[in-house]
Amino acid sequence: MTDKYEENLNSTESENLKTHAPETEPTPTNKDDYGSIELFDDLDIDEKIIMGVFGYGYEKPSPIQKRGILPILAGRDVIAQAQSGTGKTATFCIGTLGKIKPEENTTQALILAHTRELALQIDTVFRQIGKHTDIRFNLSVKGISPRDNIEELKGGDDNKKPHIVIGTPGRVMDMIRKNALSTNNIRLLVIDEADEMLSDGFIEQIHEIFVSLPQISKTALFSATMNEHFFTITNKFMNNPVKILIKTETLTLEGIKQFYIDVEKHDYKFDTLCDIFSVLTVNQSIIYCNSQRIVEMLNDKLTHNNFTVSYIHGNMTSSERELAISEFRNGTSKVLISTDLLGRGIDVQQVSVVINYDVPTKIESYIHRIGRSGRYGRKGLAINFMTYYDKQKVENIEKYYNTQIEELPGNFGDFI
Ligand code: ADP
Ligand code: MG
Repeated sequence: MTDKYEENLNSTESENLKTHAPETEPTPTNKDDYGSIELFDDLDIDEKIIMGVFGYGYEKPSPIQKRGILPILAGRDVIAQAQSGTGKTATFCIGTLGKIKPEENTTQALILAHTRELALQIDTVFRQIGKHTDIRFNLSVKGISPRDNIEELKGGDDNKKPHIVIGTPGRVMDMIRKNALSTNNIRLLVIDEADEMLSDGFIEQIHEIFVSLPQISKTALFSATMNEHFFTITNKFMNNPVKILIKTETLTLEGIKQFYIDVEKHDYKFDTLCDIFSVLTVNQSIIYCNSQRIVEMLNDKLTHNNFTVSYIHGNMTSSERELAISEFRNGTSKVLISTDLLGRGIDVQQVSVVINYDVPTKIESYIHRIGRSGRYGRKGLAINFMTYYDKQKVENIEKYYNTQIEELPGNFGDFI
């Protein structure tokens, strides 16, 4: 079987699929160094999991996988940071699968994600990598009927409880309150996009879930971005965690070229976008806007101009959201217009262009948004529509991430 990475390196026909190994190695910052693996085979876990990893197309571990799986298996609290698109999901997936005792009919691990779309994506990875094992999975998110959700968590007719529950905080909390999800035997809590999950919007729900877990349960937190506030909070509830961190200056990926277009006024953005689309026909792109209203306005205008686009934001029903993302994932629509709802975590390898129709307000959002392109070392292109009022924001982003955002040159099509 060919390594995805190698295969893409050797590909001559599709330049944009070329990959290179993620550049900067995340390094442990405290004395608890569990070392690193060179091969997935070096892991002391059930072979069936390793079979699943190879079957999924991974041949060699990425830097975060080399270092991040071991401390989870060792039963430590873990804080793990790595650039977007470098394989954090499989890090906690393999670590979690390795901790499960399939012969015990109990729920042993809980994985939390901030949106149902991300939870679904994670659920798919777990089921694929775990497919040769006897480990059972449950997805607990809005959109699944609460009755079915409860039934499955309780074990259903044949009394087989899921070993691993993957879900969003709202639904998971609801399932705990209804005594459907029994937390007594949970030994591991994984929180993806952890800095977002420990911020104001989610912290109360996370807290409620956390205190319902047994004291001996371990916690593993993952994200590309972690700020001071995040560490203040984690200091309060984590027990001497193993930290694998990277410097903010090394967060941007070399493979993603970043540009701005000086659009002057908001009113000129739409025409600029049409100009760009007349050059960019290949591959898929995500356009980020700062409000649901602009997302819908842009969708109307683009549709009116005969573009096939999908759009998504938080004020849509679960099934509308599902339709939008599936159209985009299967390529029916090549353009997805989104708010920051899908700013984090979503992995669509074909995405090579990210357009910030609005420059994001939160500095972390920038790195997550542009990281939707350039997955696993692929090339990416990020274009920021900059009005007069955004100039300072763009400068701040450059400074914070120690990166360059240059004016978009005429030959920008060459960058993807
Ligand atoms: P992150 O969460 O760090 O942003 P993901 O876990 O979503 O990144 O992974 C990004 C992409 O890289 C996914 O498409 C995933 O399948 C792929 N990937 C992850 N690990 C490997 C590996 N070891 N070999 C090849 N591809 C990988
Ligand atoms: Mg991720």
